[in-house]
Amino acid sequence: MLYCGITMTLIDIETIQGLSRDQVEERIKTFGYNELPKHKKDGIFEVILEVAREPMFLLLVTSGLIYFFLGDITEAVMLMSFVLVIIGITVYQERKTERALEALRNLSSPRALVIRDGQQRRIAGREVVPGDILILSEGDRVPADGILLSSNNLTVDESLLTGESVPVRKIPWTEGLKEQAPGGDDQPFVYSGTLIVQGQALAEVKSTGSGTEMGKIGMVLQEVGRDDSRLKVEISSMVKIIATCGLLLCLIIVIIYGIGRGDWISGLLAGITLAMAILPEEFPVVLTVFLALGAWRISEKHVLTRQVPAIETLGSASVLCVDKTGTLTLNKMTVQSFFADDEFCEHDGAGENSVPDSCHELSEYAILACKRDPFDPMEKALIQLSEGDFGRTEHIHKDWKLITEYPLSSDLLAMSNVWQSPDGREFIIAAKGAPEAIADLCHFSEQEQKKLAEQIDVMASKGLRILGVAKSSFTISELPRIQHDFVFTFLGLIGFADPVRPGIAEAVSECYAAGIKIIMITGDYPRTAQNIADQIGLLHTDNTVTGTDLTECSDDDLKERLKTATVFARAVPEQKLRIVRALKANNEVVVMTGDGVNDAPALKSADIGIAMGGRGTDVAREASSLVLLDDNFTSIVSAVRLGRRIYDNLKKAMAYIFSIHIPIAGMSLIPVIFDMPLILMPMHIVFLELIIDPTCSIVFEAEKEEQDIMNRPPRSADERLFTPKTLFLSLMQGVVVLGVVMLVYLYSLMSGFLETEVRTMTFITIVLANLLLILTNRSWSETIISTIRTPNTAMRWVFAGTICSLVLILAIPALRDLFRFSLIPVEELVTCVLAASVSVLWFEAWKIWNVRKDQIPHIFSGI
Ligand code: ATP
Repeated sequence: MLYCGITMTLIDIETIQGLSRDQVEERIKTFGYNELPKHKKDGIFEVILEVAREPMFLLLVTSGLIYFFLGDITEAVMLMSFVLVIIGITVYQERKTERALEALRNLSSPRALVIRDGQQRRIAGREVVPGDILILSEGDRVPADGILLSSNNLTVDESLLTGESVPVRKIPWTEGLKEQAPGGDDQPFVYSGTLIVQGQALAEVKSTGSGTEMGKIGMVLQEVGRDDSRLKVEISSMVKIIATCGLLLCLIIVIIYGIGRGDWISGLLAGITLAMAILPEEFPVVLTVFLALGAWRISEKHVLTRQVPAIETLGSASVLCVDKTGTLTLNKMTVQSFFADDEFCEHDGAGENSVPDSCHELSEYAILACKRDPFDPMEKALIQLSEGDFGRTEHIHKDWKLITEYPLSSDLLAMSNVWQSPDGREFIIAAKGAPEAIADLCHFSEQEQKKLAEQIDVMASKGLRILGVAKSSFTISELPRIQHDFVFTFLGLIGFADPVRPGIAEAVSECYAAGIKIIMITGDYPRTAQNIADQIGLLHTDNTVTGTDLTECSDDDLKERLKTATVFARAVPEQKLRIVRALKANNEVVVMTGDGVNDAPALKSADIGIAMGGRGTDVAREASSLVLLDDNFTSIVSAVRLGRRIYDNLKKAMAYIFSIHIPIAGMSLIPVIFDMPLILMPMHIVFLELIIDPTCSIVFEAEKEEQDIMNRPPRSADERLFTPKTLFLSLMQGVVVLGVVMLVYLYSLMSGFLETEVRTMTFITIVLANLLLILTNRSWSETIISTIRTPNTAMRWVFAGTICSLVLILAIPALRDLFRFSLIPVEELVTCVLAASVSVLWFEAWKIWNVRKDQIPHIFSGI
């Protein structure tokens, strides 16, 4: 039937059974999952090849070969076996990161709404099978190729397949239509990967996976991104600088050694040792491991990462712009009060006489303005009205036929359903929507509008969400194009309660303590929005900005208002983009949530766009960098908290790597320059690397959050990982350790110990100072004495492994000889322990001073 451009063929959804669970299982076995062959994952061989290209690996192999040609077979074998250990660690790290990202990819793939066993189910797109019945609506990515059984105003963007940028109109299948290639209007087919721009439809899946048009041309939709982030760029340039300086130094060492001592082979070995000591190969590895494992940790807080760099931005988020319904509230509506016949009535649940007589007609039309099997919680609440006595009255019309619907739009926040009476002669129109929109449809005079505003305020000040309801009738078969062309009669108002989610008020105050602003952007009525904002403890709620205010104010005004405004009401999604831009112009780091198609530009433009997993469209998901699985505001706050922790830990790991390389490099360099006995050889460096590698990636990654994590302002967006202060402090840590190790070295030399004893004492001091550096860098605000009580399993393993290996090397003569060590007296061991402890003492003292210094202003401000 064609009514002035509104194409409609409706099938009653309730009559559709869809596939049964057994059928689905059988079809998955026959046709496989609905996915395209992914790009081949790196196998072990590829990872090994990758490792083999690493400079560290090449240096190890070269020194192994040199030892081999010099006839030192044991050293050569030892170094080569370290090569295997390093390959093992890299493969493990690679696999762990890949697995974390793979799990996220599967979770963030498009979802599909299907009818199976007579029930609507939301499933992962990959589980769709041929024969499934799909329910498609605006904003969905079509998960498989299918044929349309029914559709309402369906237009689809097929540009991905056809290159045609204008969306095409679709019609339901009728006998005689022939299948043809994608493209062009009025076809009854939908194709996998295309996007529903408007309308709804029911489709039967015909092909999945590689059988789809998309599969035939072998395209894979966007997956979890691994793009270059600001941090990656910063770290790469840091690595380049250190590596260049290191290589220059190595050259100098080889030349000094070669010319000075006339032994070029040993000079080459000393140069390689220094290169291995200086090479900052851990920096990029640490970044990849932290971000990938961070994404996995955040997914445990119900937030999926689509773009990994978003994790580093989370810690600097300064404004959270959130929707009200569903994110701050539960989106579980119940009808709480009515306004009809000039009086307010309360609704007392689903019991006897739950709908007062005076509200019967209002409820009748409100129900008629809903879908038969609604998804929208407000409509669900209205349909529930018919569960009590009211359901047995003549006001419920199961036999009426739904002819068409006029959807809600940003221009008119009201929708109407057109029903045909059983005798087929009359069309009944039921409208519901924002009270102002319904008043507009009913052509209210100014006086009537004023009176209505007072009635709305009574309900809104209780935090209720309000809908106006109106009715109309029609006799001509040609329906008008817009709702305004009906003559509506106002029936009254219905108020819905939507409770605030538990824990929101606490999360809000946590954000305020963390210097993060919260802005609520809602399509709801200002007084309702204000009431909810007050309930959750938002500040400045009296300064509510409406959508109309927004349209009228200039960009500069908006920037000014955004300094204090926290509630935006009756705002349409398109206005979110303006808000994001103004906030960014105010130098804020913006997190924005959204679920609809129209939210996509704002989600893309925000520093972090967060799509709703539960009710979000695929378009919103694709435009965002994170997906909120439970739609809950508290999960966003948990993610921000984790983002801060990940960044803190990254900083600690980087500072540790930076500082530990200084004593190692120093002890490789100084003895050569001053023509003194060499301490470190390639195997010593490898031993130290085997402590450093797992420490910086696994130990620091698992480190607990700092106590003040949510009591300090967000980090500035331009703050670099290596600020001059961080660089200075880590440099100092390294220099002090080097100084102490040098003292032990000089002391043992001057005390007349053998070269092997000097090496043993110096090396033990380096290893112990290394362990203490790990301990002290676990927190830059708490001392070792307080952090030691916080468990870190990975750290325990590293410590136990290091001490045991050291003891074994000293105890087993063959190993002792290999490392060119010899046994030392116990009192000298005590000297090493004391010296190592002294090396981090100053930093512990600095932490105490730094925390006290920060507290002084607070103490004064409290007076
Ligand atoms: P938020 O933006 O926080 O999710 P919201 O859900 O109130 O808030 P919209 O969904 O944009 O925002 O709705 C705006 C207004 O449109 C509602 O306040 C209501 O008046 C009207 N409205 C929404 N859904 C319906 C519906 N199914 N039928 C009639 N009117 C509706």
